[in-house]
Amino acid sequence: MRTIGHFIDGVETTGNSAEFQDVFNPATGEVQARLALATEADLEAAVASAAAAQPKWAATNPQRRARVFFNFVALINRDMQELAELLSIEHGKTVDDSKGDIVRGLEVAEFVAGAPHLLKGEFTDGAGPSIDMYSMRQPVGIGAGITPFNFPAMIPLWMLSPAIAAGNAFILKPSERDPSVPVKLAQLAIEAGLPKGILNVVHGGKAVVDGILHHPKIEAISFVGSTPIARYVYATAAGEGKRVQAFGGAKNHMIIMPDADMDKAADALMGAGFGSAGERCMAVSVAVPVGAETADRIVAALKPRIDALKVGPASDKASEMGPVITKAAKERINGLVEKGVAQGATLAVDGRGFSLQGYENGYFVGPTLFDHVTADMDIYQEEIFGPVLSVVRTNSYEEALKLTMDNPYGNGTAIFTRDGDAARDFAARVNVGMVGINVPVPVPLAYHSFGGWKASSFGDLNQHGTDGIKFWTKTKTVTARWPSGIKDGAEFQMPTMK
Ligand code: NAD
Repeated sequence: MRTIGHFIDGVETTGNSAEFQDVFNPATGEVQARLALATEADLEAAVASAAAAQPKWAATNPQRRARVFFNFVALINRDMQELAELLSIEHGKTVDDSKGDIVRGLEVAEFVAGAPHLLKGEFTDGAGPSIDMYSMRQPVGIGAGITPFNFPAMIPLWMLSPAIAAGNAFILKPSERDPSVPVKLAQLAIEAGLPKGILNVVHGGKAVVDGILHHPKIEAISFVGSTPIARYVYATAAGEGKRVQAFGGAKNHMIIMPDADMDKAADALMGAGFGSAGERCMAVSVAVPVGAETADRIVAALKPRIDALKVGPASDKASEMGPVITKAAKERINGLVEKGVAQGATLAVDGRGFSLQGYENGYFVGPTLFDHVTADMDIYQEEIFGPVLSVVRTNSYEEALKLTMDNPYGNGTAIFTRDGDAARDFAARVNVGMVGINVPVPVPLAYHSFGGWKASSFGDLNQHGTDGIKFWTKTKTVTARWPSGIKDGAEFQMPTMK
């Protein structure tokens, strides 16, 4: 059986690991590899390698650092098919969807190839008599990223690209469910010319995460995962005086106005609700039609589409939706569906008891549509993270907006309408970080920043875009005066611009 090792000091290694964890193929339920779990000594080795390599990398001029990213992007493109297949076999999503996962990360690697420009500071000529003032962006030192299972390429690339381009060394702790692609990315980075030690990967769960959170040499931590862990990571790392950004879970609402094109809205809900089996932090899990007629029309448009959805393994090119990640996730989702029924929601499409011939042990969940869901039900309150779409009927735009705003999460939201006034009002007032207008999954492109509000995000700088550069750098401001500009005599008052 294949063993997946850490990636430390430029090589894949099982290091000091004595414990291993199974990595499954979610389509079959079979164990396909074993993953080495990092010990304290493995994390120390990764930090030592990072600490040894970082000063020289930081001193390498940004244009040379950027060139590594040009090569890195080319190598990822060269190996796209192989990476996507590897990703699909561990995650379960379709190969095309895996390519999307890789490409949305790759775009951040492309963005940071502009590092020489992105890292430029500011300069004021003549801030005072003979005084010049300038600021520069310097790397934080060693950064770490802790990432979720649902985007095993995109999210590591969101973090490691700006961190490394800015001159940091980086330690990645990917999800233990689908760890192979992150290791491959580290190998490709070395092939692209990245010095060993600048990108290390260690595997494991809470123990290694805690080691990272408390490590005195790790200066900044980026986390993406569920809200309870995001909150814990934020509080613990901030308590250690580290810079930290932690992104959590979501419950994304899509409002459908009476004037929307119902076919287009239904198509959008299909992709956003059932793509990647609903395991996206930007998935739409709550459809909010305005008015009873809109609700009836959208439910009627969704039903045949859900019935026609092709559920299957990634190895079948015809599949549109794969399995969920683990047996435990499947059981949890099925349990929530039963709760929805028990609490009085209407099962408009019943996905229960779904089974796929030849894949009976896979973690497939039948796509499910609930109508007449209310805000007090568990299926509304919990992030289901599976192929279950809830319809919450509302009587007015204001009621739909209030529902969205009262939800504790604030990652993404969307409105489908032809009414520019309603769309503009929604974008201005809603308390959610990423808003789509006739765009169901409004994930910003690499040169803008990604981040939610409320319980979806802790910390104040977002992922990628200029926020990513800011997060992985510290600002230093220099005030300079040359001897010819210095007056004789001591000054005891606070210097001011008189
Ligand atoms: P998770 O919180 O279980 O795991 C995320 C990471 O934390 C993993 O690397 C895991 O090993 C580690 N971890 C797990 N338990 C831990 C513990 N007790 N202490 C310390 N570390 C621990 O999340 P997941 O199931 O891998 O991913 C799905 C979740 O991530 C969903 O809630 C989804 O909404 C969220 N997510 C959010 C975003 C976003 O940008 N807001 C993006 C993707 C996923």
